[in-house]
Amino acid sequence: MTDHADVLIVGGGVIGLTTAYFLAQEGVRVTLIDKGDFGREASWAGAGIIPPGDSRRAIAPIDHLRSLSSEMYPDLSRRLREQTGIDNGYHVCGGLDLVEPGEAFPIEEWRAEGIAFREVMGDALRAVEPGLSPALARAYHLPGMAQVRTPRHVKALLAACEAQGVQLYPHRAATGFVRTGRRIDAVQTEQGPLLAGRFLVTAGAWTDGLVQQVGCRLGVRPVRGQIALLQTDDARQRLILLKGKRYLVPRGDGLVLVGATEEDVGFDARPTASAIAGLLAFAAELVPSLAGAALERCWAGLRPGSPDGLPFLGAVPNCPNLYVAAGHFRAGIQLSPASGRAMTDLLIGREPVVSLKAFRLDRPPAPPIRTAFRS
Ligand SMILES: Cc1cc2nc3c(=O)[nH]c(=O)nc-3n(C[C@H](O)[C@H](O)[C@H](O)COP(=O)(O)OP(=O)(O)OC[C@H]3O[C@@H](n4cnc5c(N)ncnc54)[C@H](O)[C@@H]3O)c2cc1C
Repeated sequence: MTDHADVLIVGGGVIGLTTAYFLAQEGVRVTLIDKGDFGREASWAGAGIIPPGDSRRAIAPIDHLRSLSSEMYPDLSRRLREQTGIDNGYHVCGGLDLVEPGEAFPIEEWRAEGIAFREVMGDALRAVEPGLSPALARAYHLPGMAQVRTPRHVKALLAACEAQGVQLYPHRAATGFVRTGRRIDAVQTEQGPLLAGRFLVTAGAWTDGLVQQVGCRLGVRPVRGQIALLQTDDARQRLILLKGKRYLVPRGDGLVLVGATEEDVGFDARPTASAIAGLLAFAAELVPSLAGAALERCWAGLRPGSPDGLPFLGAVPNCPNLYVAAGHFRAGIQLSPASGRAMTDLLIGREPVVSLKAFRLDRPPAPPIRTAFRS
């Protein structure tokens, strides 16, 4: 028996942490490294919206990944709480998807998957969510929509990984690979090489910088998302409110998240005055009383965008022991349980719990497809 890890994972965001967690449960010896503290990049910044789903009826591959993840969240959250004492705040709160004029909703996909929804119009909207602006006329109520407190979720995953014996090395940036022919022997870090049998890159928006060194170009790029956190005395709002790509997420204790922008600005993760002003105006447009809320704080994160909006989950072509799980863009929190489970299956030589064909690294660029949820 060697003293190095079976699997070395580069990047401890929600994708790397979840995969490490499931691998350790299979008895795999895992080392997880991060260039900074674990879970402090996109995964910490995320709003934590978890759409509902039924994996037996989902049609598109991405809907399989989303619906299976959605089904896994309650049990995963319970196990993490039992193992670590950390409550990640997962709960089904429901959501209202507000209809903009001319906007088409994936109603057929919801029906096909058996997702509960109903159309709500006019004053009935205010009965469902009393604080809503009278200017809002139409929405779809999705009672199965859920949320998780992302900083707590990554904290729970980290504690569970530690409890399960995962070797954790924060502040250890991977700078490249040591190779013999096509095989990877080690990940190079500033503190020296780290050997392992197999290697998984879950470096979020930074993934291309690493895998390009072995000739793999995925096109994963940073897409900045900004969020503002409001504190209000009115804790009545219960439902997640979605309008286009922006949303309000009530945390239940008077805190309301307002998100999010989508900006191509490279690796700059600073919030900006104009974007936050836009988000605050959006919040008051949906719920007028939020104009008087206190601005608690604001932040930004770098989502790992991919050219076709789908994640990359699979082996690196021509590198028999190197894998990638990255590019989850706006949906990494919601897709993380099934992504971590499927990558675990792949790494231990088991049939993945969901087909990963649509997510392979050498897929041709895919045209946009209709899915049950825009993310
Ligand atoms: C404002 C905002 C709101 C969002 N809301 C939602 C939401 O409601 N629901 C949802 O599902 N998703 C949401 N997302 C998207 C979600 O947060 C991301 O898809 C997800 O966090 C990506 O996880 P990741 O582990 O791939 O990346 P990250 O969390 O970025 O983790 C990558 C890790 O790799 C490390 N790393 C990078 N390079 C190296 C290196 N060379 N060596 C070692 N470590 C390295 C980084 O330090 C980082 O910790 C949101 C994102 C943002 C920004």
